[in-house]
Amino acid sequence: DVGSIIIATGWDMYEPFGEYGYGEFDNVITQVQLERMLAPNGPLEGHVRRISDEKKPEEIVFIQCVGSRVKERTYCSGVCCMLGLKNAKLLKEEFPDASITICYIDIRVNEKGFEEYYQRAKDTDIRMIRGKVGEISEDPETKNINIRVYSSLTDEIIKIDADLVILSSAALPSKGTNEIAKVLNLDTNIYGFLTESHFGLMPQETKTKGIYIAGFAQGPKNIAYSVSQARAAASKVAELTSPGEVEIELITAQVVSEYCISCRRCEKECPKNAIKIDKEIGAFVDTINCDGCGICATCCPTQAIDILYYRDYQLFAEITGLLGGV
Ligand code: SF4
Ligand code: SF4
Ligand code: SF4
Repeated sequence: DVGSIIIATGWDMYEPFGEYGYGEFDNVITQVQLERMLAPNGPLEGHVRRISDEKKPEEIVFIQCVGSRVKERTYCSGVCCMLGLKNAKLLKEEFPDASITICYIDIRVNEKGFEEYYQRAKDTDIRMIRGKVGEISEDPETKNINIRVYSSLTDEIIKIDADLVILSSAALPSKGTNEIAKVLNLDTNIYGFLTESHFGLMPQETKTKGIYIAGFAQGPKNIAYSVSQARAAASKVAELTSPGEVEIELITAQVVSEYCISCRRCEKECPKNAIKIDKEIGAFVDTINCDGCGICATCCPTQAIDILYYRDYQLFAEITGLLGGV
């Protein structure tokens, strides 16, 4: 029995099997696998090696936007440009003589300090190629990866004999998000991320009062944004629970049942999930959830919905009063 819920279920990585030799060529790995290799408490204690022969890599290539910004997933995963730059810098520190290349479509680094980080990464001799990798194959003897990439900035096809390839694969909603959405009666977008009440004004609120979202559960975002959203969601919970009793809105929708034809328009449009249809009486309002926004009243074809204290005759009385009875 709980009063409030914050959904912060995070994300899962897209496994790009069949793309760029992933799952087929030993020395093609994902950013998440590289992160584990780089971690001091990881299986390699922070020392990156090729999977095929445990040699130190000398020619490393990052491929960006794998599984993101494609027909099936048109969104940008938001964090992998910075992740690629950070990991490329770390590899350059560990292997100063290695040649490191990042193949990208765009570099999206528009948060505070990120542009400067990007410039610093470029200053460390990391090669940036703007273009999609066209061909990729494995040398059966050396297990090196032969790459051909078209550079749209220099208008040339560049060949690279890479010994380690890292894929920046897409971020997906975490497994189970859909089930949570069904149980809590929340909406998701076409990719399965939870949707908020209002993108600009209520980014951590859902259509159900008392249920909030934070972080990647709502869609790709960086750590700073996730932390801000989590704090905002926690404040919303405190706002609800700290007074000890819940104040409800007096201005709510009210249905005149005789006029209702059960067309369900109001149910579909309500951003708070506060109006439902009953077989016997037609539409009825959950006054705890309703915040009196008036959307249902504007979409009702039979004008069966009033907003308390904002009925037509009340508005006319106000106008008459303001005009001094003129
Ligand atoms: S963050 Fe960068 S690498 Fe990731 S999907 Fe967006 S543009 Fe591509
Ligand atoms: S006024 Fe209507 S649309 Fe707005 S929250 Fe209440 S029931 Fe939903
Ligand atoms: S929109 Fe109006 S007529 Fe349709 S179900 Fe809602 S209250 Fe009834």
